[in-house]
Amino acid sequence: VGISNDKKELAEIFTEYISRLYPDAACFLNHKTPFQLLVATILSAQCTDERVNEVTVELFKAYPDAKSMSEAEIEDIKNYIRPVGLLNNKSKSLYNMSRSLMGNYGGEVPDTLNELVKLAGVGRKTANVVLGNCFDVPGITVDTHVGRVSTRIGIAEKKTPEGIEKELGELLEPVIWTKWCHQTILFGRNICHSRKPDCENCEMKKYCLFYADNMTKK
Ligand code: SF4
Repeated sequence: VGISNDKKELAEIFTEYISRLYPDAACFLNHKTPFQLLVATILSAQCTDERVNEVTVELFKAYPDAKSMSEAEIEDIKNYIRPVGLLNNKSKSLYNMSRSLMGNYGGEVPDTLNELVKLAGVGRKTANVVLGNCFDVPGITVDTHVGRVSTRIGIAEKKTPEGIEKELGELLEPVIWTKWCHQTILFGRNICHSRKPDCENCEMKKYCLFYADNMTKK
């Protein structure tokens, strides 16, 4: 089988593969409410999900909702989230985000992209995580794994997360977007690592551009 130039077909082959590998892939960040997922996603910037899940156990006991967090001292929030790094930014984002939820939305998390991205510390990526997992609004989250895997295989070419999000959006049915991202993240963590992708054990190697360009020449 040669390299397929048809991105749609490539995307279908990859989707079928990751669906077999990770049929139950779901959101990795522990949460019980949209607010808690918003908090966890803000904390996950440049930090592993495992570490975020460790700190949110106590953080959510102390501040389970926007009201309690909006009444917190920033210094106290910092003490709960120390292991996740970027302390100043993240603690301020959590506090300001909670305050604007209280001020503008009665403490509830809004369910549109436009409203979400106006909250402190919330970009498109975070907004899409919340929309996809809490409100069943399909969203494509281009994190480091999704970006790397899609461009390596050759189903996306753009350099920016926004560009890749758009390309993937044209290839994949919206109904699979959210789960597809969870599956692709697992695939990126377990097989298509950034430094040493495990190409020999990957069924995509017959189709993958990165494999054709790098591995077959060694
Ligand atoms: S063949 Fe290698 S580079 Fe291509 S998707 Fe598989 S692991 Fe990643």
